Amino acid sequence: MAVIGIMSAMHEELAAVLAVMPDEQRVQVAGRDFWVGHWQGHSVVAVLSRIGKVAAATTATVLLERFGVDTLVFTGVAGGLGCGVRVGDVVVADGLVQHDMDASPLFPRHEVPLYGRARFAADADLAVQLAKASEQVLANAALHLGASTLAEFQLHAPKVHQGLILSGDRFVSTSDESHALRQALPEALAVEMEGAAVAQVCHDYGVPFAAVRTISDRADDAAHTDFQRFIREVASRYSLAIVSQWLSQRALG
Ligand code: SAH
Repeated sequence: MAVIGIMSAMHEELAAVLAVMPDEQRVQVAGRDFWVGHWQGHSVVAVLSRIGKVAAATTATVLLERFGVDTLVFTGVAGGLGCGVRVGDVVVADGLVQHDMDASPLFPRHEVPLYGRARFAADADLAVQLAKASEQVLANAALHLGASTLAEFQLHAPKVHQGLILSGDRFVSTSDESHALRQALPEALAVEMEGAAVAQVCHDYGVPFAAVRTISDRADDAAHTDFQRFIREVASRYSLAIVSQWLSQRALG
């Protein structure tokens, strides 16, 4: 039977997932708690990714090696980089780049040595399915968040974007840094700290991967504002609703 790995970047997101799994069993590996059970009838393993590229890559490797996961979906928050990518929007990756990889002049900037590439693709079918689920959830944002939360965080007509996500071991929280990232990688829609590392691991194992990120900040001088509350009241609810919607539309396998 197919096993779907769900990696959440935030405690609050994982807690929301565990609350809807009827039968989760905890298995500890590498100091991490992996939760094995079912969601919408699918076999799933849910886990906190941990923050940063190495921690997330280790978590992903355990999911693939120990738990035989054959589809991996990552959810979390990210800073918006692309123009028009606003707080409360959702970005579904079609490709991911490690923005802090730089082995130049031996290799072109951003290229991962010995892979011959900087960009790791998300699985195209999964990305389309998750973008569709995200559209369905955002179209009913008031239902999932409540009208007062929408008003409080000024979330008007949130949008779903599909495109390039950047990852690096840095919380991008100044306008100078986000400007430099936009200059170096103009197509980038969002920046976070894990996705491209997990995409590389999934590439190594030939396992389909997708990443869905709710925009929590604009990766600028105001990036830290109300981060925790936003995760609790907006991002973790979106993640839960999007993955749940996607699973409910996916054939049991
Ligand atoms: N200040 C936060 C730090 C969390 S780390 C705290 O108190 O917990 C940030 C997490 O959100 C990472 O998982 C990363 O992937 C994502 N993220 C959100 N906005 C980001 C940004 N502007 N730059 C980098 N990562 C960001």
